[in-house]
Parts: sequence; C-alpha cells; structure tokens
Amino acid sequence: MSLTQDRPVAVVSARGARRWESGHPWIFRSDVAVPPKSDAGTVVVHDQRGRPLGVALWSPRSEISLRLLDRDPDAIIDRTWWITRIRAAESRRKPLESQTNAWRMVHGEGDALPSLVIDRYGDYLVVQLSSAGIEACRADIVGALAELFNPAGILARNDAGSREREGLERETILLHGDVPQEIEVDEYGVRYLAAPWTGQKTGAFLDQRENRHLIGELARGKALDCFSYHGSFALHVARNADHVTALDASAPALERAAENAERNGISNIDFVTADAFDFLRDRERDGTRYDTIVLDPPAFAKNKPSLPGAIRGYKDINMRAMRLLAPGGLLFTASCSFHLTKPLFLDMLRSAAADSGRRIILRELTGQPIDHPEVLTIPETGYLKGALLEAEN
Ligand code: SAH
Repeated sequence: MSLTQDRPVAVVSARGARRWESGHPWIFRSDVAVPPKSDAGTVVVHDQRGRPLGVALWSPRSEISLRLLDRDPDAIIDRTWWITRIRAAESRRKPLESQTNAWRMVHGEGDALPSLVIDRYGDYLVVQLSSAGIEACRADIVGALAELFNPAGILARNDAGSREREGLERETILLHGDVPQEIEVDEYGVRYLAAPWTGQKTGAFLDQRENRHLIGELARGKALDCFSYHGSFALHVARNADHVTALDASAPALERAAENAERNGISNIDFVTADAFDFLRDRERDGTRYDTIVLDPPAFAKNKPSLPGAIRGYKDINMRAMRLLAPGGLLFTASCSFHLTKPLFLDMLRSAAADSGRRIILRELTGQPIDHPEVLTIPETGYLKGALLEAEN
C-alpha cells in the first residue's frame, strides 16, 4: 500500500512534470492543475493520470508553487530525512576543512535542498529559509542541524526580499543557542571578521575564497582592490604585494577592513573611500600603473531589464582597469550578476580589452567553489564568474 494515501496531493500538468524530468526542481503556478488542499509544507505530487512523481515543498502564494525534494513519492520528510540530505551536502565540502573554518554547507537547489541556505562560520550556523514550504520544515531542519553538528548557535537571516513573494515575514532571528555579532573567519591563513547579524548575505562573501587565494598567491608590486568591502581580497593580496590600495564607496565597510588588516598584522594597505568609476578614471588621467588589480563589484544587473546598463558599467571599469595595468600586470575581475551569463561576461571582457588599447591574455576563468555547487540543469544555482587576466605589454 502506498504511503501517499493520506498526504496532501498536488496534481501537475505534463509541462510541469517534464520540468522535473529535465532536471529542474521548480514547478510554476501555471503548471499546477489541482493545488493541494493544505497549508505550506510538504506534499505528494501526481501527474494528471494519477502517477506519483515525488514529494515537494508547497508554497501557496508563490509563483514557484512546488520545489522537488525527493523523487520517491513515499519519502517521509522528517528530521532523519534532513539529516541524510544535509550530511550528503556536507561531505562534498570535506576538502575545505583544511583551508578554512567557514563555508556554505548547503547551497539550496545546488545541493538538492531547494530554498535552503546554510552557511557555517566556525561553531555557528547561519541559515536562510526562502520559501513558505521550507519555512514549514524549520523545526525539523533546526533539529537535524543540532543533532548533526551540535552548533553553539543557529541564526536565521531571513531578511531577503524574496520572502515577501512567498507571503513570509522578513526577519533576523536566533533559532538555537547564541550567535555573536562577530565571528572570526580563517581563510587560507588570512583572518577576517564576519558579521552574521548585519553583514551582507549571511555575514561575509564566502563564494570568493578561492579567487582571493588565487590572486593573493600571484600578487606583487603596487596593488589596487576596488569594491573592497571588509578588505577580504586586499588582505590576501597584501601578503605578496608591496602596497595595496583598498577602495570602497562605504567608509564603515573600510573601517572593518582596517580592523581586519590589524588583526593580521598587515600594515601595507591604505584605505580610500571613493567611487570606483571616478577613481579609475582619475588614475588613468594621472598615469598611475598597478601590477595587481582586483575588481569585485556588487551585482550591477539586479534583473533582466537592467542588464544593458549593467554591461556598460562592467565594461567601463574593466576597460579602465586594463589600461591601468603595468606591463605584465594582473587583473582579477568578477561578476556575481546572475543575469550576466558566462558568455556575456566573456563578451564584455573582450569588448573592454578591444577598447583598452592593451593586449590582454586570458589566463584563467573561474566559476563557483565546491561549496556553491552550480548544477547544469538549474541555471539559477550559478551566478559567479571570474577571470584572471594579464596585460602583455
Ligand atoms: N570584494 C568584497 C565584496 C564586495 S561587495 C569581498 O570579497 O568581500 C561590493 C562592495 O562594493 C560593497 O562594499 C559596496 O560598498 C561597494 N560599492 C558599491 N558601489 C560602489 C562604487 N560605485 N564605488 C566603490 N565601491 C562601491
């Protein structure tokens, strides 16, 4: 006898079912033929002939109505189920344990745990529950995390705007134990403070760890870190460069960067509060040259309509940075805009190089680190692109 009998059921169209078959976990409202007669939570999904397809998270108010959890329609989504799934995600991160104490333990759809993010900072966990369906599973998830990791605290950074589309409150709340305002992250021997309650994302930009290490190892001479935030790139670069200018439009962000430099006993960074566009233009005018440059701007394209303007912005800073490179100089450049796809990112760099008047070598393209898995059939899991460039002359 099937266990699905007394559980709420959603019936989906053939198009909805095909999405799952092609490896994407979302089914949109327009593909739900018969919605479940239940509140947000887990439901069994059938096709229109009554064939069970699996178990999903159900979000009654969202455009994304169903998110696939398990292809086994008899799966019971209890604490044990979450323990198994989270442990599988955690085991992929093993290689990071010798490099850092902070990583993304669960990257939502990328780890087959839709709308759930879990970041680990030392003994603490910061979670983001971004759908009504996952919110309904909160107690089991917190129970699973407590049992698996015995963390000193679990914080929910449920303050992202996407929660509103799900009919959920935006809030930052403690779910377990205690979580301090600041937690020290150790990343390849560089230490900096994450701010889990108030910092960007869940308190730090963990996704750039390997890129910081990459340019940090190669850095030399006179260096510039634009969009420095808390100085994470600058700290890595400062270990091998003679001198670093860390630039950001936010003075409070740079105060944190200066504290982080002190924490590492690093004294060859100066901090400049300025607009990166203006700064790059001015340095071009006065003929300054750098041996190492980092460009890690915020997402210029927040949505599709803003993409053309965003591309102009990316091209402008990249072209100017290329012009500022000394012969043999290195530029590490990144974009975290989901809408700027990998091909568009490369096109933008080509066009910047063409207009820079320099001969630019593409030394390396980087994607996401192992703790932010990008699944090929789920484009939404990928957003970060990076390139290491060298000016030949
Ligand atoms: N590189 C950082 C993350 C950068 S986040 C890291 O690895 O941790 C983006 C930063 O860009 C923010 O700190 C924001 O204050 C800054 N910023 C946004 N627009 C800017 C501009 N026009 N000029 C300079 N900084 C800007």
